[in-house]
Amino acid sequence: MGDNSLKSGSSIEQPGMVPLSSKEATSLMIEKAKQLVNQLVDYRGHDKPPFLPKEYSRLVNIREIKKTNLGDTSALLLKLHDGYVIKVNQDHHQVRQNFSCAHEIGHILFSDLKLENYVRSIEYRTFDISKTREIQARARETLCDAAAAELLMPELVFRKYLSTFGLSIASVKYLASTFKVSIQAVTRRITEVSIEPCIAILWRPWPKSKPRGLRPVIGKELRGKANYMPVHEKVNISSALYKAYQSDTLVKTWKLFKNANTVKRLPVEAKGFGTGEARFIISFAFPDRSKC
Ligand SMILES: [Zn+2]
Repeated sequence: MGDNSLKSGSSIEQPGMVPLSSKEATSLMIEKAKQLVNQLVDYRGHDKPPFLPKEYSRLVNIREIKKTNLGDTSALLLKLHDGYVIKVNQDHHQVRQNFSCAHEIGHILFSDLKLENYVRSIEYRTFDISKTREIQARARETLCDAAAAELLMPELVFRKYLSTFGLSIASVKYLASTFKVSIQAVTRRITEVSIEPCIAILWRPWPKSKPRGLRPVIGKELRGKANYMPVHEKVNISSALYKAYQSDTLVKTWKLFKNANTVKRLPVEAKGFGTGEARFIISFAFPDRSKC
């Protein structure tokens, strides 16, 4: 019969030794990140982006975020007797540094939630211990990325801005500069948060040296609520998508997508980002806008 308001901020039960599914672990992390977002919004009195890692510092006992030379490492989290220090790679682009720092805050939340027990419970039918460790490490990193996305691009705020800018490839760069995150991070967030399903694909030229077309980068970038894949994976130089690689104009076209046994022609928007070797294309396809 106590005062419930006293418990706010600590209402998540520790998972203890009960095995969690990856879905449950992810929602615990996101819930914890959301609490932090709410505390920050209360503290500063508004919910306007960007949500920068240094603003969260006070709330999670980070003493300092230090830009430093880290070689290939993006960031490091140090636990000192009086709090945490994050070292972040000074040579990385500022938007990447933001994500790296938010990811390290994710590690703090991970440790507060004692999710190491969950990671240790991930067992695979393999005798190769190093493989199991690798899978466990990846699970830990994925959870911290999920928290980072929520901290930098809080779901409700992001959705509001997405509906203002509109679900279109044209909105990507505005959202990226509003939330101070990378094009790739915004793209992933759009597919996660958008009410209308949207399939995002990142394309890179192939072969790298003398491109004869584009091919999709399979991995994180291909996530989305809709489970469609392009029927023809590679596109050649004569396709509309390739025009997006060559110029900065927004290209609109139609492409065939498959989902299990169904093939649908979906409207697609594509745009090129970056220059030189780092140039890539992002395409959005909209399953709900198809004309069957
Ligand atoms: Zn990490």
